[in-house]
Formats: sequence, structure tokens, C-alpha cells
Amino acid sequence: MIRADTTRAKLALVAALWVGSAPLFAQSQMEDTRIEAQQVADGIYMITGRGGNMGLSTGDDSTFLIDDQFAPLTDKIVAAIAGITDHPVEYILNTHWHGDHTGGNENFGKQGALIMAHDKVRSRLVNGKTTDTGEVLLPEPEALPVVTFNDSLTLHVNKQTIKGVHVHHAHTDGDVIVHFEEANVIHMGDTFFNQRYPWIDLKSGGHIDGVIKAAKVALALSDEHTRIIPGHGPLASKLDLQNHHDRIVAIREEITSMIAAGQTLEEIQAAKPTAPFDSEVDSSVSISAERMVDIIYKSLSQ
Ligand SMILES: [Zn+2]
Repeated sequence: MIRADTTRAKLALVAALWVGSAPLFAQSQMEDTRIEAQQVADGIYMITGRGGNMGLSTGDDSTFLIDDQFAPLTDKIVAAIAGITDHPVEYILNTHWHGDHTGGNENFGKQGALIMAHDKVRSRLVNGKTTDTGEVLLPEPEALPVVTFNDSLTLHVNKQTIKGVHVHHAHTDGDVIVHFEEANVIHMGDTFFNQRYPWIDLKSGGHIDGVIKAAKVALALSDEHTRIIPGHGPLASKLDLQNHHDRIVAIREEITSMIAAGQTLEEIQAAKPTAPFDSEVDSSVSISAERMVDIIYKSLSQ
């Protein structure tokens, strides 16, 4: 009896330390995070910190933010924006539902920002998050998009025509590409990881063919002067996007013929179909070549 109690007490202590230390680690990461703004056009900035790259449009009439990273970073993000404009954030567009792009929604919503997103973003956020212990954490109402749309939405602020265009089944099932028409700037959300292999969330309706299609849509909107904000990675040009497109198209084709030849996932991974491109990407900050093969294989086998 005593022994069992001791074991249970030890287990409880280990659990408390483990559960306690994980958020502490995450918290210190957030404390170390620096929010930096890089101007990409007149009144338009790419803002980086931890998580998905943000886009900012400022001007006389409004402050519009694309994505908002993690909740513990909101104060820092607000401070960085206050260094650029006197207007608080009035509009937010979520490019998709992932927490490193929507984590600040509740804070900004409570500060009065109007949040917009694709229909699927709201329906996924509404269902909350399931923790490792199976507990479902439902969102506060302020964290949810108020305006949702299915195909496209146009914002007319800061002398810009800003179009949010839904791309089907790409990184998730609710992705939006944002095009600043006059400024010739595009924010691609996580349909584009610059200089790295793209992670695709198959469980949230993502598919390799949608990621390729999203690149084609943005390429058609681009010229050599276009500045492209990727979901992750440095600010990009049309050439960067073209290279990303060509890479994943070539790897997809290679894997398609290997599947047709009856090869298993393990055989395909061992054959390294990404090898010609591995030196073009930084796998240390995103998914590995093996994981890329796994994602494409599973997309094509669905
Ligand atoms: Zn994402």
C-alpha cells in the first residue's frame, strides 16, 4: 500500500514537473521573441516574431493586420505597430486557422479589432483545441472571426484594393492568399514556405495539389517587382515562388511515377526523390526531406 502510494506520488510529481515545465519553456521562448517590421511597400510591412509572418497595412484611414501569431506576443506586436502608426489594429484577416497565425485573435478582438477569415477557419476555431489529456479548450467569442467568406473578399482601405482569395485544399481547407493590387504585394499565408519544404496539414484538408495550385494563382498575379510575404521564411520575390513551385512539382512527379511502379513509402523515401533540391532549402527550420516525401505520398494516396 505504502509502496503504491509512493509510486503514485512520484508519478504525480513527475507529471506536475512535466506539465509545469512545458508552458514555462514556451513562455521563455515568447519572452525572448523580438517583433520586427520590414517595409515592403508604401504603408505595407512584413512583421516577424515567432510563428507565421504577419502583414500590416497602414495609412490615414485604417490599420489592417494579416495574422496575429501567439497570444503572449500581442503586447509586443501592438508596441511594434505603435512604432509605425497611431491607429490601433482595426481589421484582422486570418490566412488559415493554425494557432501560430490566429493565437492573438482573442486579445485583438477584445481590443476592438474586427476579425475576418474563410468560413472553414471559423468552423475549425469554434470547435476548440483538444489537449494531450483529451480536454477540449473552447475559444472565447472574441477569438472568432466575425466576417467570414467562401470565395473572396475585398477590403478598400489605405488607398489599396486588398483582395483575399480562397485557394482550395492547399495548406489546409481554409487558406486565403491576400493581394494588395496597387502596391503589388502578396501575402500567401502557409500556402508558401520560402526556401524550405512546405508543411501541409493533411488532417485539416490540405493537399499537395492545392499547394501547387496556390503557387500558380500567386505567380499569375506576380511580376518581377512583386514582393511576396510567405507564411514562413524570408520575404520573397516571384523567382523564389517560381523555384518553390518547380521544386514541389518535380518532386510530386517523381513520387507519382514511383507509386505507379508499385513502390512503398519506405522505398520511395530511401530513393530520396528530393535529393536534387535538398541544398535549396533549409530543413533545420522546417520539415525534413523525408517528411516532405511522406506528405506528398499520403496526399497522392488519399
Ligand atoms: Zn499553418
